[in-house]
Amino acid sequence: MTAVQAAVIEPADGPAARVVALEGVSKSYPGGVTAVRDVSLTIDSGEMVAIVGPSGSGKSTMLHLIGTLDRPSAGTVRIDGHDVAALTDRQLSALRARRIGFVFQQFHLAPGQSALDNVADGLLYAGPSRAQRRARAEAALVRVGLADRLDHLPHELSGGERQRVAIARAVVGEPALLLADEPTGNLDSVSGAGVVELLRELHAAGTTILVITHDQAIAAALPRQVVMRDGEVVA
Ligand code: ADP
Repeated sequence: MTAVQAAVIEPADGPAARVVALEGVSKSYPGGVTAVRDVSLTIDSGEMVAIVGPSGSGKSTMLHLIGTLDRPSAGTVRIDGHDVAALTDRQLSALRARRIGFVFQQFHLAPGQSALDNVADGLLYAGPSRAQRRARAEAALVRVGLADRLDHLPHELSGGERQRVAIARAVVGEPALLLADEPTGNLDSVSGAGVVELLRELHAAGTTILVITHDQAIAAALPRQVVMRDGEVVA
């Protein structure tokens, strides 16, 4: 293990009860648009939170900031106890790979690989052997209800099943935070409801989950909602 990896594996503040802490965070883009304005927000370990708001309200920008894909123009972003501003790009990549699981609307599965291999790849960064990766991937797929789909390729799965594979890949490394961006955006309503139910089950089992959505009905089904308008948190 390198020093860089070690530096971000250990929570900076001891056991990080506070998984996300934004303090006075703003993000402006070149050209003068302020997409996120003076947002303060904390998410504790074990919480399940929706960030909801109409198109253009700043949700994607929040995803990029919390996912450590982008740095704020002002304010402090702490993820799993780490001040993002204090980390190098390499350390940030390590934090992202080890401590955040991403789920996107478009699934982003490798097309020529089985469900099992797609999920096992979620552990590449963590470094266990191939056999260990596959064993853990199988357990994650069983957990999301796909025990009988291990060897299926993505195109042999329904949309809802593909998203379950993506969720298994996101949680197989037991991240501090599962960050889901419009996870039901590409699904019919029945499959979408199944995915929301799966996320609720993972939450009940202790996973910290942040869902970004424009869908009021999905947000309303989650225990806590953060409502955005014009870059600000309004509720
Ligand atoms: P949402 O995800 O809620 O639709 P965004 O975070 O994508 O909102 O956008 C918030 C505002 O920031 C919008 O006015 C958008 O046009 C602007 N914006 C987003 N990304 C960029 C960018 N890369 N460059 C300039 N403006 C941007």
